[in-house]
Amino acid sequence: MITESTLNDIRTRTDIVETISEYVQLKKSGQGFVGLCPFHGEKTPSFHVNPVRQAFHCFGCQKGGNIFTFICGIEGLSFPEAVKRLAKKAGVEVVEDKHYSRSAQPAVPKLDTRLTDAMEWAAKYFNYLLNQKGEYSFAAKYLESRGITKKTIEKFKLGVSPKGWTTLQDLMLRRGYSFEELVRAGLVIPKENSPTQGYDRFRQRLMFPISNAEGQIIGFGARLLTPEDKQPKYINSPEGPLFSKRKQLYGLYENQRGIRVQGEAVIVEGYMDVVGLYECNIVNAVATMGTALTEEHCFQLKGMTQRVVTVFDPDAGGIEAWHRSVHLFLSTGLFAKDLSLPDNKDPDEFVLSEGAEAFQKLCDKAPRQVTKLLKEIASRGPLSEQESAKILSDLTPVLVASKRLPDRAILWDDIALVTKVSQNALKELSEGAMAAGRAKTQRIEEPKIQKPLPKKPAQRLDALDFEFFQTIIYLPSEFMRLPKETWSGALREETIQTWLEKLYNSGTVTAFETVLEELVQTAEADTKLLEAASARLVATEPSVPSVDEMNFLAGRINARKKEKEIRALSAQVKLTQRLGDQEEQMKLLEKLRELRSSIKV
Ligand SMILES: [Zn+2]
Repeated sequence: MITESTLNDIRTRTDIVETISEYVQLKKSGQGFVGLCPFHGEKTPSFHVNPVRQAFHCFGCQKGGNIFTFICGIEGLSFPEAVKRLAKKAGVEVVEDKHYSRSAQPAVPKLDTRLTDAMEWAAKYFNYLLNQKGEYSFAAKYLESRGITKKTIEKFKLGVSPKGWTTLQDLMLRRGYSFEELVRAGLVIPKENSPTQGYDRFRQRLMFPISNAEGQIIGFGARLLTPEDKQPKYINSPEGPLFSKRKQLYGLYENQRGIRVQGEAVIVEGYMDVVGLYECNIVNAVATMGTALTEEHCFQLKGMTQRVVTVFDPDAGGIEAWHRSVHLFLSTGLFAKDLSLPDNKDPDEFVLSEGAEAFQKLCDKAPRQVTKLLKEIASRGPLSEQESAKILSDLTPVLVASKRLPDRAILWDDIALVTKVSQNALKELSEGAMAAGRAKTQRIEEPKIQKPLPKKPAQRLDALDFEFFQTIIYLPSEFMRLPKETWSGALREETIQTWLEKLYNSGTVTAFETVLEELVQTAEADTKLLEAASARLVATEPSVPSVDEMNFLAGRINARKKEKEIRALSAQVKLTQRLGDQEEQMKLLEKLRELRSSIKV
């Protein structure tokens, strides 16, 4: 766990307006700044930043919080990752509280920095060669023929590996890397009979550095540039201490922002597809590297988006592979669409000739995998009860994940139609699975994934509690006049209770605002509370709810508490009746009457 003083240091040395300005064009407005929200598409600005309160909030999509939550959201990072990034910029050393770190975070395996340094050095060297005129210009010419320009070359740090069997090795040994390090990094292949001699793995190939989530280079993809060579067209770094193709998606680091902003990732097959699409402003593509999509890939994507579009070669896997991928997406709760390009074109080819807009249109229109699956199931004829139950259980993650989809209703109709189950039954199924599923997915994710995923969306807060909280933050003085027992102890949510106590005890309106600021700056704050608090802090002209509304909500909270007491009392009455304790029963009934009449008033 990162210490509070570290967070404070970063906060004081970071200007929220300056940081957000790197992503959003902000204009001065009143006390604060406004701009177009980077988290949802909009034409009129509803994204507000308040430099004094160090808070931001979008009144369009309700995203809000502090500088750390902003970086988490925009860069698709976990909280500790965002802190580290901001700390680096601010020149603050991150101090972690050792007592908590073991239990609070899953262990992230530390990569050997000697090896990542070596990869970084090699990538820079390859890139340097690509930018040289002369001997290696064939690589630059190849990229040019595919329409790739400088901006994309630099974004993906593309390069070319040198000629000769030991050119890179010799250079790097002279730079102080050991032979063993070069072998472990996968840059050098040792000769079979002599463990201290070897040759460069990558020779005269177009080099695609592969970055992990932190942006460290952990591997390379390499494309053959000399067609007369009888080598395979593409090779990768070997599996090793740095690289595992089961866990990595090419382009995920470079395109993480595009994926977040677009809310969708395009999964393609090759390095050149990712790069070519980027060149044409499709900035949300990732590629598997010569392996079928894995569960780990899906979970990495899920940390950034719930929607994916696959663009796979239709002949490559066949129907069986397709079924496997459908199942994988279903079980990880990702929404997949299948895009097939006309004339079996590669994505980068297609986008180069037809343009980004045509590609985007096809993506939007692409059929949803589930729909295709349902059609296929429907074509099998009537289902037995057993079959139908099996399909429903397979589709449950989709039901759960479809909550926020605009065309959810159509999808549910389709599912209901095929499985012959009512919409209500589907609703129950999805709600039941949500509670159980949360625990389950966490179990699957933790051991397998190497980086902690960005924080899970907050659990659903109790609606009434939350509404009350949302109301009273606009009515400090009225709230403080409200009898404390109307809400104290009557709320279901402990977090809300805690914050209300703090607000209540703050005494004055200014102190009240300080508590709200504190809430926004709290690392562990619930997302929804944070959104409500940031909205209140950032709004220049808040639409203040009425006192009547507040009183009404307080009344409902109180009534709810009494109803609970009534239920408990009624149960007691039944018990005394069974036991034949008439005297006790009368007493309880009297209490019950009192309680009931107190609600009616
Ligand atoms: Zn927004």
